[in-house]
This record gives sequence, structure tokens and C-alpha cells, in this order.
Amino acid sequence: MRCPVCRAEYRSGAVLCRRCGLDWSPLLAVLDQALAYHRRALAAFEGGDYALAAEANDQALNLTQDQDSFHQLRGQLLFLAGDFSGAAQAWRRALRLAPDGEAQRLLQGLQELLLAVAGDVSLNPTIGSQAPL
Ligand SMILES: [Zn+2]
Repeated sequence: MRCPVCRAEYRSGAVLCRRCGLDWSPLLAVLDQALAYHRRALAAFEGGDYALAAEANDQALNLTQDQDSFHQLRGQLLFLAGDFSGAAQAWRRALRLAPDGEAQRLLQGLQELLLAVAGDVSLNPTIGSQAPL
């Protein structure tokens, strides 16, 4: 999380921004609420209720856009709904926020899946018409 005034990085436990003196508490209250929505979304996701998971995760994203885990879950939910380009977009956002996070693996998996589908002879009549090697 960054200070909206001076862009200084938030330090855990701080009450005031170390650079400009902004009071962090209202922002931390919003973040707490967003994390609560996200936890609800994760519980629904694990329970297989993807509609509830998407709703709760969107509520979390409405409060803050700078948590990579929110975008990552959004990508997973979009993927499950068959929206692969939306999923890739959400995972790329997660990746920008956390370059060494799990989104890299998810994006790579999606890319491999799409390549496998593109190479599937049953879905590609020009390849299917050729004799197998
Ligand atoms: Zn500041």
C-alpha cells in the first residue's frame, strides 16, 4: 500500500506516513474491510460458490486495487467462467503488483492451455485433414 499523498510505501505498524505525516488509520480501516471481503471470497471459492466468491471479491476490489491477491482470485474466477482474456488481464495486474507471485504460474498455465487447444487436431480442420506423423 502506498500513501495517496506522497506515494511513500506503507510500513507495517505505522500510524503516520513517514514522509508526509498523513494519518494512515482511515486507509487501514478500508484495507481491513477489503481484506474481510477477500477472505469471504476465498471461503466461497473453496466451497465452490463462485458467484458469491466473485461478488465478495469485487467488493474487495471496489475498496482497493493494489492487492495482488484480489486480482489473482478475480482471474481465477474469470477463467472458471470461460473468460480467458479477462483472466489473463487480471493475472497481469496481479503480476505487476507482485512480480514473483503465483500469477506468473497461472498466466503460463493459461498460455500452455491455449496453445494446446490451438494445436488440438479435433479443433483445427486444416491439421486434422493431414495424415498423423
Ligand atoms: Zn505520505
